[in-house]
Amino acid sequence: MDQVTEMYGTNVFNEQTMRERLPKETFRELEKTIQDGKPLNIKIANAVAHAMKVWAIEKGATHFTHWFQPMTGVTAEKHDSFINPQDDGTVIMEFSGKELIKGEPDASSFPNGGLRATFEARGYTAWDPTSYAFIKGKVLCIPTAFCSYTGFALDKKTPLLRSMAAINKQALRILRLFGNEDVQSVKTTLGPEQEYFLIDKKYYEQRKDLIYTGRTLFGAPAPKSQEMEDHYFGTIKSRVQDFMNDLNEELWKLGISAKTEHNEVAPAQHELAPVFSTTNIAVDHNQLTMEIIQRTAKKHDLVALLHEKPFEGINGSGKHNNWSISTDTGMNLLEPGDTPYENAQFLLFLTAIIKAVDEHQDLLRLAVATAGNDHRLGANEAPPAIISIFLGDELTQILEAIENDTPYAGQGKERMEIGADVLPKFTKDATDRNRTSPFAFTGNKFEFRMPGSALSVAQPNIMINTVIADVLDEFADVLENADNFQLALHDLIQQTLKDHKRIIFNGNGYDDSWVEEAKRRGLLNLKTTVDALPYSILPQNIELFERQGVLMKDEIVSRYEIMMEEYTKILNIEALTMTDMTSKQILPAVAKFEKKLAETAALKKSLSASMPAAYETQTLETIAAFADEAFLALKDLETKIEELHAIDDFELAGAFVRDVIIPAMDALRAPCDTLEMLTDTNDWPFPTYGKLLFGII
Ligand code: ADP
Ligand code: MG
Repeated sequence: MDQVTEMYGTNVFNEQTMRERLPKETFRELEKTIQDGKPLNIKIANAVAHAMKVWAIEKGATHFTHWFQPMTGVTAEKHDSFINPQDDGTVIMEFSGKELIKGEPDASSFPNGGLRATFEARGYTAWDPTSYAFIKGKVLCIPTAFCSYTGFALDKKTPLLRSMAAINKQALRILRLFGNEDVQSVKTTLGPEQEYFLIDKKYYEQRKDLIYTGRTLFGAPAPKSQEMEDHYFGTIKSRVQDFMNDLNEELWKLGISAKTEHNEVAPAQHELAPVFSTTNIAVDHNQLTMEIIQRTAKKHDLVALLHEKPFEGINGSGKHNNWSISTDTGMNLLEPGDTPYENAQFLLFLTAIIKAVDEHQDLLRLAVATAGNDHRLGANEAPPAIISIFLGDELTQILEAIENDTPYAGQGKERMEIGADVLPKFTKDATDRNRTSPFAFTGNKFEFRMPGSALSVAQPNIMINTVIADVLDEFADVLENADNFQLALHDLIQQTLKDHKRIIFNGNGYDDSWVEEAKRRGLLNLKTTVDALPYSILPQNIELFERQGVLMKDEIVSRYEIMMEEYTKILNIEALTMTDMTSKQILPAVAKFEKKLAETAALKKSLSASMPAAYETQTLETIAAFADEAFLALKDLETKIEELHAIDDFELAGAFVRDVIIPAMDALRAPCDTLEMLTDTNDWPFPTYGKLLFGII
């Protein structure tokens, strides 16, 4: 075996390891649990826990943790050691089935939006046996869901698993209608492409904004930025390559199939894409990937920035959410098939997606709504805040032919008969790569391009799965009750296309004219997080989530509160950091430089009244004016932050941030960035964009 194959998955208690280490009977029982979601009995759990412990200790682990994904933050873990002290002064290493399947973190300080206060003081974590346990450092990590004792979801995994169950149930109903009897389960798949920036650690450490907020709150543009487009797919610098090699090894050991890596458009920006897998595993892996990117960077004296917009004027980072749906028999349901039946089935799923995306633009938009992502959407570097679907010309023409009962190009017949005709094969390239579309069909999957780089992809996938499950549910109701399946199928597809074609847009999403056009079509344009989040608690959306069994009303309301509060907290920290940097670093540095200019001008004058001092006096005048502007803006922002702190209501606070705090932050940044251009670089208190973006050599 080569090195990579040998290393791959060595830190994962995966199927192969389980097969090797578990008694046959135990392995079979566990497999059943994994496949059908049956609860694990304690005897099996004990046997699995024992084998897991022995394996983990062999790998040097001393602790275990229930690893989970609370509503904010990346992941959470509390380490317990395996040791159990004995009377004779020795210890034994213990890990029971009970400890494997259930944990009770003292979770009172995780955000719960009032849920735990209302219902239960404590929550518990429960093993998700569909995602393998793994070792990180000296800790055995057990992927878990986090719930309150009354069963309310306090994390991102629980609703994700529920949404996958919903789509499984509804997709199976559809498949049965097409005569697919052998399919036992349907799972959504996900391949998230992760973007990030790398900067030199020594520069990072000198910037409070990066340390506290993950992005630069000040910074004049460097003379060079991304206009030469020489970074995209360019040669990877050796220091970065060393980091990537190390990163790949770390990921491979965890069974994370990091596959492609390349430079992105912006200087210092990179991308990593894994091979896709089942959604809940892909989500776990993406959370781990983000963590390991950051940890590995530190080892190379680099810092990885996962923020959506670390630098103004430079492309931000996103996370393309490649989504599809496939069966346990290996069929990708978004792959146009070879037979008329497969094609009809493909068209029905496609139509369901078109309807779901059109009807629930609000939910898809709010699934990616965060303070950081607000900087990207609609800023001509990422899709607009308007949801639309890209299908490519060929597929669009086929759908138009179906909608109008007309022949499509190349077809020599009256009309396209669903279930009787075969779709033409479209090559992957024909489906084009419209980089500006938020939701693009790319041949056998959809690529949702709106998520930000720091987001947990659980969120968008919960939404996508749920809204599509709901439409499949509705379609199945119609078709199961149809007298003539063929006819009903044709009518359903045709009518749905008629009703929802407004969501299809193959043009340039960055173009201003699209904003106008979308408005004419009646599409939503929710520009900020504060505009988007309230849609989550609309009665029809609560009903939808309850109907599909994904989230209950109280869970939705609490999530709304958590997300809005998170937005306000982030902006509050950013605003405070700006006032801190301005009053303690920028203005003092400027004053120092002003003093030098004034002293030099005075010195010149004292030597000879006619000595020219244009540079000193004019620069001093300009700087003094901008320094005053910055000072006034600073005072103004400070006052507004105080006003923000006096607001109790979370919705009002969010709106205040959007309408008052952010404009005040912009008003402070502008004169400070100008001051940076006018001041002696040696006096400037922190590294410039030039150093941050081009500082890795
Ligand atoms: P690119 O978008 O750069 O052209 P690809 O389209 O090949 O690259 O793949 C991008 C990502 O999409 C990868 O992570 C890949 O694993 C993932 N992907 C490919 N097929 C599927 C699928 N059926 N379901 C989910 N993700 C997929
Ligand atoms: Mg892609």
